[in-house]
Amino acid sequence: ARTAAALVQRTLPAAGTTLLQARKVTKRFGGLVANNAVSMDVKAGEVHALIGPNGAGKSTFFNMISGVDDATEGEVRLMDRAMLRRPSREFARLGMARTFQHVRLLGQRSVVENVALGAHQRARRGWIASMLRLDRAEEAALLAEARRQIERCGLGAFADTPAASLALGQQRIVEIARALAGQPAILLLDEPAAGLRHLEKRALADLLRQLRAEGLGILVVEHDMEFVMNLADRITVLEFGTVIAEGTPHDVQRNQRVLDAYLGGGDDEPQPPAAPAVAPSSLTPTPGAAA
Ligand code: ADP
Ligand code: MG
Repeated sequence: ARTAAALVQRTLPAAGTTLLQARKVTKRFGGLVANNAVSMDVKAGEVHALIGPNGAGKSTFFNMISGVDDATEGEVRLMDRAMLRRPSREFARLGMARTFQHVRLLGQRSVVENVALGAHQRARRGWIASMLRLDRAEEAALLAEARRQIERCGLGAFADTPAASLALGQQRIVEIARALAGQPAILLLDEPAAGLRHLEKRALADLLRQLRAEGLGILVVEHDMEFVMNLADRITVLEFGTVIAEGTPHDVQRNQRVLDAYLGGGDDEPQPPAAPAVAPSSLTPTPGAAA
């Protein structure tokens, strides 16, 4: 009972609840409008994808809605609270977690130690105290929580393995487990499928479907159109900082502005060798090709 009490528990909002509301979020860098009045909702129990050519403003938008940077204009509400100019730590406290485009694990430390770091914000003593000098009940609680999240993500067999010895696809899932250890209601994923093999992508998609069914809201930036089209409930398409389309995968892949944006050759995002370049043809999901 003491170990359970050492971690703050969060009750997840019911499916369909709006977790994040962005309203007319604008970001200017000097004369450049990186985000132009972008509005979007993310709800509990859905996967929402944010796509668009390189330079469209996706990463900027992630920074606007996670407190990494401040919008020039507009409004961001998380759990129905106004978040303008709040620090990213406050977003995490309210239930947002994110992963980054490049794997950020301590390679020589075990999977369970890496994931335990994600639980630190739930510890009562604060993370610096947690890193330096844990009290034993709290340390036990963090490690138990980490093991629970690793099991949840299907990596139980690797809990005590050094993170660096895992395949890239597994490392990405460790990062998601670490994010989950903060007990988020909303998860932001920046290109989680980049560089993964087909089977790894499939495992990742299965995990995201499971988390969606458990009631999380997931916002994902991803260039792999097959992955996006087969997974997302809704898609928002950015071009030059402006939303040019929003809707179901079915609607978006038939939208002429979206097709033009991709045909325009604006997408020169560097692609890892294993991942196919985003081409107009890949806007059409090809069932069976993922095998
Ligand atoms: P995406 O993630 O869709 O590829 P970004 O959000 O990274 O696009 O960039 C959108 C635009 O904003 C680009 O033209 C980029 O050069 C510009 N930009 C991004 N961050 C900054 C910054 N800190 N200062 C100036 N310009 C920036
Ligand atoms: Mg980017």
